Amino acid sequence: MTVTSALSPAASTELESSLLASVPTGLLIGGQWRDASDGGTFDVEDPATGKVLATLASATSEDALSALDAADGVQAAWARTAPRERAEILRRAFELVTERAEDFALLMTLEMGKPLAEARGEVAYAAEFLRWFSEEAVRDYGRYLTTPEGKNKILVQHKPVGPCLLITPWNFPLAMATRKVAPAVAAGCTMVLKPAKLTPLTSQLFAQVMTEAGLPAGVLNVVSSSSASSISGPLMKDARLRKVSFTGSTPVGKQLMAEASRNVLRTSMELGGNAPFIVFEDADLDKAVQGAMAAKMRNMGEACTAANRFLVHESVAQEFTGKFAEAMKALRPGRGTEAGVTVGPLIDAGARKDVHALVEDAVTAGATVVTGGAPVDGPGYFYQPTVLAGVSNTAEILRTEIFGPVAPVTTFSTEEQAIAMANATEYGLAAYLYTRDYERMFRVSEQIEFGMVGFNAGVISNAAAPFGGVKQSGLGREGGSEGITEYTTTQYIGIADPYA
Ligand code: NAD
Repeated sequence: MTVTSALSPAASTELESSLLASVPTGLLIGGQWRDASDGGTFDVEDPATGKVLATLASATSEDALSALDAADGVQAAWARTAPRERAEILRRAFELVTERAEDFALLMTLEMGKPLAEARGEVAYAAEFLRWFSEEAVRDYGRYLTTPEGKNKILVQHKPVGPCLLITPWNFPLAMATRKVAPAVAAGCTMVLKPAKLTPLTSQLFAQVMTEAGLPAGVLNVVSSSSASSISGPLMKDARLRKVSFTGSTPVGKQLMAEASRNVLRTSMELGGNAPFIVFEDADLDKAVQGAMAAKMRNMGEACTAANRFLVHESVAQEFTGKFAEAMKALRPGRGTEAGVTVGPLIDAGARKDVHALVEDAVTAGATVVTGGAPVDGPGYFYQPTVLAGVSNTAEILRTEIFGPVAPVTTFSTEEQAIAMANATEYGLAAYLYTRDYERMFRVSEQIEFGMVGFNAGVISNAAAPFGGVKQSGLGREGGSEGITEYTTTQYIGIADPYA
């Protein structure tokens, strides 16, 4: 299917309908698409229009347990498949997702709202996890050594963790799924995937593609549901489940960690962020503005890595803020399928209300609205791209994940102060530094408590890099050589002295 952003409304409607009709609407359990055990369903909406796009089966607790039956039933056989076979399934999946890039991009734009160009970028990023872990699957090295005493031998091998529960958020519907499914497949784990109820269509189509790529029945089971806890609750109490990998908000992550303690489940937690974007006095300001636009506006600001606090040296704050506001003003909000649109809607009415409340609170605390500052009238949940200057350090907007197209700017006078301000948060996912000074880059990176640092770079996600946070931003890493270890356990075999 070919999608261009310049289709006539009628052609575009026809294309959307035929794509939506091709997405499976059932639950994928043991290789079969089926209805929910109680016949329940839920609707998926287009956030740009509020219209219903599709109606999906809504999995119950009973369905979740059937999915675990399926995953557990094939775990032993799947763990014994050749790593090369798993690698080739992932490689075929990479090729199929790439061939169907336009379908995936349009589907994400429809259910999530991001402009098509961004959705295409996400497809490419998401597909890279399939390719990367197809390469990693055959390179999961153990080790062999002689003990320091020189007699016995130590053999260390990796084994798949076992059946995993994968829970994904709504903001990156394809990438968050491939970032978990690909390493789990590479390691030889079986899975129950629960996509976010706001954007499950992409995962439904992705699961179909994984089947086409040759993934055996039962290895990947998908249980979309309107009730997340009725899926996670019973699964996490079941001793057959061995791991939960969660991407989402910190409060839900904490709750799942508490539930995971019951059976001492392995956990990977990719949680919220509150990224500082630090512009030093020696920065190239044009590059900093370019980076700020990418770090703030990708996904309408609905990203865990989104720049949330702009900390700018007082000597360049006015110039930076002026240029940044100009770039924000030039953006064009609209439905992501329309030509020329550069900012989509927020995910729902509640999200928009929360963003506006943060802006109002900042203004009450003394901030100035340089541009934007209000919801956009009309259908859909649009919010004006906004820059706030002179934001007080006590404003809630500097403490909370904004998850919207709003950039609060505040100033600092020394490097030490910038570091202290950056660290003044319970989060520790991504941080961005703009400076021409490499020594400063190392000095500041060492002192800031963040899992990822962008140095003169506004976008840092890459399948080959370890993605993840410290503090309350989470545990574990996705991508890089670290990604597969999240899905393996280590077994040590002590071998008696062969000369004794
Ligand atoms: P969320 O926590 O509301 O939901 C995430 C997922 O958890 C969804 O599938 C949801 O259905 C499920 N869920 C919700 N309540 C649950 C419960 N009680 N038990 C089990 N599952 C439950 O988050 P969201 O609004 O979908 O996503 C936005 C959040 O995700 C932000 O905080 C963002 O920073 C974070 N995020 C983090 C990363 C990362 O890699 N660190 C990436 C993307 C998003």
